[in-house]
Amino acid sequence: MVENKENLIKCAKCSFKAPSNVWEMKLLGDRFLLCQRCRDYSRGYYNNQSEETREILLAKASNRYATDENWRNHKIVEITALRKSKINCTACGKLMQYGSLLAHKKCCKGGEAKSTLTQLLELSVANGPLVDSVFTC
Ligand SMILES: [Zn+2]
Ligand SMILES: [Zn+2]
Repeated sequence: MVENKENLIKCAKCSFKAPSNVWEMKLLGDRFLLCQRCRDYSRGYYNNQSEETREILLAKASNRYATDENWRNHKIVEITALRKSKINCTACGKLMQYGSLLAHKKCCKGGEAKSTLTQLLELSVANGPLVDSVFTC
């Protein structure tokens, strides 16, 4: 399929538009519905919530995970793809599979800083793969 440069894609939330050939793809190959800015905003929104609000949001996602089979299966596929994807350790720069990152962080001498994605992965390991799409439209 040839990508048409005039083929602009619009963010599902704001008025941002970009050609389809530069629009970011998810790990599974489908396009994000929201632009980078809106996705950063959603992530920031979650990170800025109080402990209790986050628990409510996670409980909602947890409930959906338990009751919505299609969504659950989709999340499992997403997390599986995430774990198999390659990533550089942010502390020491070593390239590895995402799924190995948690074990590596425990023995990595490069530093302690955790990325948001790492925290999500930790949560998904603890609670099942449910966290990363709490705010997906
Ligand atoms: Zn947007
Ligand atoms: Zn490392």
